[in-house]
Amino acid sequence: MKKILPLCDKCGKPVPPENDMIIIAKLAEDPRAPLAARTRHFLSIDGCPGSPSRAQYIEGQPGDPLRPYDPTQEEKWREAYRKAQLPAREE
Ligand SMILES: [Zn+2]
Repeated sequence: MKKILPLCDKCGKPVPPENDMIIIAKLAEDPRAPLAARTRHFLSIDGCPGSPSRAQYIEGQPGDPLRPYDPTQEEKWREAYRKAQLPAREE
């Protein structure tokens, strides 16, 4: 079965679940998640900046000049991102 992926509000390309900012923000219990009603890439991809305010906590991602890096947020986002990489259970 082919899934139809939601489109990113920044770049218009399909967003796979493992790089979906809304899914990852929910996993991280981000208080801003309900405000982020639009699908967006989490990590930057070719042609899309993604969501640097959140993705900056993942190793190797660029920092966000608008939101200073908060070390207390790091573990939360890394854990949420890791969870989003697990394949969905088919039951
Ligand atoms: Zn995008």
